Amino acid sequence: MTHILVAVAWPYSNSDIHVGNLTGSYLPADIFARYQRLRGNQVLMVSGSDAHGTPITVKADAEGVTAGEIYQRYQPRFLDLFQKLGLTYDLFTTTHTQNHFKVAQSIFLALKENGYLYTEEQQQWYSPTLKKFLPDRYVEGTCYICGYENARGDQCDNCGNVLDSTQLINPRAKQDGSVPELRKTTHHFIDLAKLQPEVVKFLESRKGYWRPNVVTRSLGWISSQGLRGRPITRDLDWGIPVPVEGWEGKRLYVWFEAVIGYLSAAIEWAQAAGQPEAWHNWWTDPDARAYYFIGKDNIDFHAILWPAELSGVGEAFTKIFEGKSGKPLNLPYDVPANEFLNMEDKKISGSRNWAVWGNDFLERYDPDPLRYYLTVNMPETSDSNWDWDDFVRRNNNELVATWGNLANRVLSFAYRNWDGKVPNLPIPLRGESSAAASDVAIPNPVKPLRGGEADVAIPKPVDEYLRPVDRALLQTIESGFDSVGKLLDAVKLRAALSEAFRLATAVNVYLDEQAPWTAIKTEKSAATTTIYTAIRAIDNLKILLSPFLPHTCEALHQTLGYYAPLFGEQYTEKHRDSQGTHEVLRYRPAAIPGRWAPSQLEPGRALREPKPLFKKLEPSIAEEERARMG
Ligand SMILES: [Zn+2]
Repeated sequence: MTHILVAVAWPYSNSDIHVGNLTGSYLPADIFARYQRLRGNQVLMVSGSDAHGTPITVKADAEGVTAGEIYQRYQPRFLDLFQKLGLTYDLFTTTHTQNHFKVAQSIFLALKENGYLYTEEQQQWYSPTLKKFLPDRYVEGTCYICGYENARGDQCDNCGNVLDSTQLINPRAKQDGSVPELRKTTHHFIDLAKLQPEVVKFLESRKGYWRPNVVTRSLGWISSQGLRGRPITRDLDWGIPVPVEGWEGKRLYVWFEAVIGYLSAAIEWAQAAGQPEAWHNWWTDPDARAYYFIGKDNIDFHAILWPAELSGVGEAFTKIFEGKSGKPLNLPYDVPANEFLNMEDKKISGSRNWAVWGNDFLERYDPDPLRYYLTVNMPETSDSNWDWDDFVRRNNNELVATWGNLANRVLSFAYRNWDGKVPNLPIPLRGESSAAASDVAIPNPVKPLRGGEADVAIPKPVDEYLRPVDRALLQTIESGFDSVGKLLDAVKLRAALSEAFRLATAVNVYLDEQAPWTAIKTEKSAATTTIYTAIRAIDNLKILLSPFLPHTCEALHQTLGYYAPLFGEQYTEKHRDSQGTHEVLRYRPAAIPGRWAPSQLEPGRALREPKPLFKKLEPSIAEEERARMG
């Protein structure tokens, strides 16, 4: 049993969430978290909305409302989407909480105590017309690295590099287009040059198993430019105050404090769970593993800057925050960053509505087809593409044809012909070898069982009553707990789903060969054994597919006659503190953990009436959907 922190990118609460965001980080995180919980590991999946970024203040200025109003508007929409799609955050909170303020300020003070902060006079763009300093996002200009003309002050959307805004060519204020001037202002800097050896050592130690794009890019960035001091405070009136006397009116820089949310959310979760110390299990236990699910535009922050902050605080954070002897904080175990999803071969653009929005999509379609399409298309190693025709095709030809029809066909057949139960196996005569079992027709099968009955008539395991062909199929399917599991552990989610579907195809091949639909008229005992075997294979596949398709697998689990659900429950609650009230999403774990194991499905178990898991889609919807965009 391992403690696994699933740290998920924090969305800016200034816009709805589109499918690119979902497949970039939120969905892979949920698939991974669900799998690890099924394995019996102690998972803590945390994130929240980033309420302080200048993307929020820019939008607030544009609409003439407060930044607080902007973040309050999007938070409930996020929680609604995450519940409908089944993203099982143990805590989804926000950075605008008293707890996060205190944790972020303690990180600041720990870095200061350890000598990793210094102050320096800096040149900052100042707008004489707006009469204020302009945060980096308030300035646009030409990228000095690639020449892109609409680069933001903090990062270039074209080449992806983090920028020094003062070097922008032809700078202009985003708000009014005026030409800003550079003025002097004093800020705190984190001494990244001093932390560079620690960061390089950390990255080198992860080289063997990280995605090459993440580790190569990060080491490449350091060796080409070297790490230099970076400001962690700024002139802004929205955000976390700098915990030093005389610094009123300045705030912690959002790049510095938002990543601290992974830590503060774990602490908030522990407090809400009534075990305020419990966050240590994920943060200071050296055996715990922290996985960061992010998009490639966030690699620098998670593979370089956040590890630098964590290395720099050392033991001082716990000392300052808790007032007792310190323990160092865990560095990321893995940062499985995804590339980007394009939309119909063009870059997704929220502002031009060239996107599929999560909330909107789920008004017309079910969640599992979206999860399926976003997983088979996940941009794990290179950019991928959302194509509406492809969405319909894969829904109909893969999800419905390979898996949904398999489950529905077999269970409906059993329900009709075996009195609403998993078929009872034909029993061999005493003394006969099990190999001959299938040839022995028993006129009256053993007494059927009702769910929960203790008088099990057939000893477990029942495999000795199966034919070699049945056992071979089950062995193939059960090997998936190893093969699919290994791929999930390595965060190769596309390959894991494809492996599970390969196994589903094997059941279809078996059924084609055994043809129970016709055998039932001539050879009922053979049909009985075939259908029992197929249902047990489906019961196994249900577990293997459940991290990807939790809603339909939960429904199937019920159809198969189980009582305790596969997964836990999501719910929202309100947390109150000195920053106001914020609504959070939580997760109550399943009563029975650790179900990642071969099915022991007993013959005779009562089924519930089967219903189709998926809907076939009309090809014409592709054209309709494209017309909604742009
Ligand atoms: Zn650029």
